[in-house]
Amino acid sequence: MIGFFGGSFDPVHYGHLKTARAIKKELKLKQLFLIPCKTPVHKTNLQFSNKQRLEMLNLALVEFDDLQVDTQEIDRQNASYTIDTLKQINKDYLNEEIFLIMGEDSFNTLEAWKNYQQFGNYAQLVVLPRLPLVKGSASYKKVYFAKTPLVDISSTQIRSKIRNQQDLSGLLPENIIKYIKKL
Ligand code: ATP
Repeated sequence: MIGFFGGSFDPVHYGHLKTARAIKKELKLKQLFLIPCKTPVHKTNLQFSNKQRLEMLNLALVEFDDLQVDTQEIDRQNASYTIDTLKQINKDYLNEEIFLIMGEDSFNTLEAWKNYQQFGNYAQLVVLPRLPLVKGSASYKKVYFAKTPLVDISSTQIRSKIRNQQDLSGLLPENIIKYIKKL
């Protein structure tokens, strides 16, 4: 049982990391991979480059050594859709049960994702609760709603604090805060 948690991680924060750790325990997953996207399909402008987002994810693994990073989307030539990544994962992990993990806000946009009806052929969908709590509009069946804690942190909030030179402590690991300050 292996979990995959995709995102822009622009930057990665405790909302991703603590819930990833919690769902790994809840489902007793053998491994959980964070997959940073290349050019996000639903987001046009990223603050941090592919390289910087990856470096920050690697710094996060110092504290979260139970998590891993999968660079397949960043390494790929072209921007890829989740369905392509799921197909690749199924090739790479034959006979392994695959879990696709996402926050509730992402889940609520699922109908806009390419071939989302096929996701269930490749993975079990897992949805993490997220603030603000907006109960699902997506009509997707066969979803597991996680019991993970609510962590009220977003990358948007962090980017805004960076712009306004506000304190970032408690929102993401200290070594990433130091990294951002040096940029
Ligand atoms: P932004 O504020 O830029 O939209 P974000 O904080 O939502 O970014 P993403 O990298 O876009 O972070 O999210 C990747 C995945 O992690 C998405 O499925 C998202 O729903 C989920 N996620 C992000 N923050 C949290 C959180 N605090 N709790 C649970 N899931 C989260």
